[in-house]
Amino acid sequence: MNVLIANLGSTSLKYRLFDFSGNEERLVTRGGFERVEDYSGAVDACLGELTEGGHIKSAADLAAVGFKTVLADGVTGCVELDASVLKAMEAGNTVAPAHNPAYLTGVQVFSERMPNTPLVGLFETAFYQWIPETAKRYGVPSSWYEAGVRRWGFHGASHKFMAERSAELLGRDDVAERARRLYVDGGKTSTVGANLRVISCHLGGSSSITGILNGVAVGNSMGMSPQSGLPNNNRVGDVDAFALLHMMRTKGLSVDEVEQQLCSEAGLKGLSGGFNDLRDIQVQAEKGNDSAQLAIDFLIHETRRWIGSYQLQLNGIDALVFTAGIGENRSEIRAGICAELDQLGIQLDVAKNEAAQGEEAEISSPDSKTKVFVIPTNEELVVAREVKRFLENK
Ligand code: ADP
Repeated sequence: MNVLIANLGSTSLKYRLFDFSGNEERLVTRGGFERVEDYSGAVDACLGELTEGGHIKSAADLAAVGFKTVLADGVTGCVELDASVLKAMEAGNTVAPAHNPAYLTGVQVFSERMPNTPLVGLFETAFYQWIPETAKRYGVPSSWYEAGVRRWGFHGASHKFMAERSAELLGRDDVAERARRLYVDGGKTSTVGANLRVISCHLGGSSSITGILNGVAVGNSMGMSPQSGLPNNNRVGDVDAFALLHMMRTKGLSVDEVEQQLCSEAGLKGLSGGFNDLRDIQVQAEKGNDSAQLAIDFLIHETRRWIGSYQLQLNGIDALVFTAGIGENRSEIRAGICAELDQLGIQLDVAKNEAAQGEEAEISSPDSKTKVFVIPTNEELVVAREVKRFLENK
């Protein structure tokens, strides 16, 4: 069974093709296109590469195309992207303006190219279906809550993979299995013995932190929208709601201008004075650019704040996990986040941390009570497994 996973960014299309035969799961090939202006061309090029590479004979060889869809009004989990779900995604455009439109366009193009192939989305919000009620709420009037103003949480596929893999690395196959089967069994009642407490830090172009108890998320630093929580590359992160009113009233910003600035000019880019890639920010900081240094310090500060919050909620941490572009590759950011936490039982091994880049590694010192891991994320595999399950149950 071939399952193609398409990862759609606002200007990119990355793909991975998986083969599930029996109990085997195999990554057949992967590829992608940057600076995409026309999704039709990118989808054709993707299908072209798969056929020319001999991986499939035609699009009909694909059992399904899976998507790491972001959010939809009133829909989560792993579902077929039919007209009603697409409509619910469209209703989410105001909340995820940098994400949802790209998926709507991309899914539309796939459905035109392959009208008989199921298109299935695993929503990024799915991992948070079992978080406590208190972690879902904002202090808003109930009419706002009914209108959808609540915390969701995102990066669900990545944090779910961290839940599975960290449990394996800690020798807790029972928890790993529970995390893998979460969308089948649900996350309400624990079937495991001793608690396993993990905090997962997905630090990349967009960033979030998740607390995980026995393979099930207890919350995520992103709230209603994927522009919230930690500062992202050019998206804002948490900001007081009254800041918007202040800027609109005193500077005359329109709704569209506020949206554009919060989605494209804010976060690390806003703080650093125009740089949104951490590699560039680091180069600037080394040249003595104080704003760039502040952006780095702020990212570290906010990450620590959320780790502290989940550490309290979980009553400790067995493993702290770093993933995504920054988490996997930037040892100095990991060192900054873990600095002076020895009293809390977190101690890095300096050499192991510096050596860890893009590969799975344990980077805590032998006497650190909390294990610290770098784990490359594999969001596409999480989506592909759920799509396979969806097809089997269909
Ligand atoms: P996205 O969320 O867009 O998928 P990534 O997870 O690739 O983004 O993370 C992008 C961030 O990670 C950038 O700030 C970049 O500086 C950093 N990064 C990515 N890859 C590397 C690398 N190989 N070395 C250093 N930094 C990296």
